[in-house]
Amino acid sequence: MERIGALAEITEEPGRITRTFASLAMRRANQLVGAWMREAGLTVREDAAFNLLGRWESKKRGAKTFLLGSHLDTVRDAGKYDGPLGVLTAIVAVQSLRERGVELPFHVEVVGFSDEEGVRYQTTYLGSRAFAGTLTTADVARIQEKQIVKARRNKNEFLGYAEVHIEQGPVLEKNNLPVGVVTAIAGQSRLRVEFQGVAGHAGTVPMNLRRDALAGAAEFILAVEALAKKSNLVATVGKIEAAPGASNVISGHTRLTLDVRDQNDARRIAAVKTLQRKAKVVSERRALKLIWTLVQQTAAVHCDKKLTQIFSQCVAQRGLEVLKLPSGAGHDAVALSAICPVAMLFVRCKGGISHNPAESVKIADAQVAVEVLADFILRLGRSA
Ligand SMILES: [Zn+2]
Repeated sequence: MERIGALAEITEEPGRITRTFASLAMRRANQLVGAWMREAGLTVREDAAFNLLGRWESKKRGAKTFLLGSHLDTVRDAGKYDGPLGVLTAIVAVQSLRERGVELPFHVEVVGFSDEEGVRYQTTYLGSRAFAGTLTTADVARIQEKQIVKARRNKNEFLGYAEVHIEQGPVLEKNNLPVGVVTAIAGQSRLRVEFQGVAGHAGTVPMNLRRDALAGAAEFILAVEALAKKSNLVATVGKIEAAPGASNVISGHTRLTLDVRDQNDARRIAAVKTLQRKAKVVSERRALKLIWTLVQQTAAVHCDKKLTQIFSQCVAQRGLEVLKLPSGAGHDAVALSAICPVAMLFVRCKGGISHNPAESVKIADAQVAVEVLADFILRLGRSA
């Protein structure tokens, strides 16, 4: 927990926690976490996608690798735990196993991924998708750091990936449990929606002759909220930019982000289609031009049955009720699922609050997560 506090001091925006892909803050975070990895006896390197890797070699010949980790980048004005908790619990769990003289039939690699939140380029999992080799040409075209494709690893190397993460929701707290076992991660659609009208003088253009892009966007945003409530899924417009952006000018161009998530892929895709139709209706009525761009889409990911069962056994062994829950938030495990089986353990957070400086995790809960993760690796070693 002290380390989490120290890591929280590393930021590109003084007074709040912000670490985005390939920033100086991320470089410093990797240096600090890399030092803790070395202290745990790991061999440390950074790959071409700025992912931080700490490796514990097995003595077994021809051994494969089991991956543990999470991400070290953050949203803007983030909490301390989203991401770092998973990387740091993995380091502590591995260190405790090494100190007990445990030898495993597989290598363990602890990974601090460089871009999960997608703040810099509005595309998620750049680090873990570079690692998994699933970046698209469109992704690479969008980014400056073209060399990140070289981070690609051979999927035959890996046995699986396990990630500890704060829940970012209120379910564990409500059930009075420190940890929970994740069953699936919701699919996501991220879009950029632009309304193009005509900029004009706020004083001289009569209301009925306006083509106000911002008013069109506002109407669409309320339609997004209404549809999500009706369809029992989650949809969010989190960012809006009105150009030219002056108090006395009608907006000629407004762009916004749209984020739609659900565990049911068909239901999510249908909702996005409905929203596109609504945006068209709004645009036509207001004589605006609509530009609809799908930025990223990920299918729902189901956690591996065997790994999830091992997590459940480890939780039960501590005399805790095994609560299985889905994740509404995306995680690096989604990207890793392209190359190996994945599993996740959630840790209770105060009030279910996340992506917020008020994010809070109890030290006792973090301790349970470390112990469950260490048990998990031991059990996996016995069953491998
Ligand atoms: Zn996260």
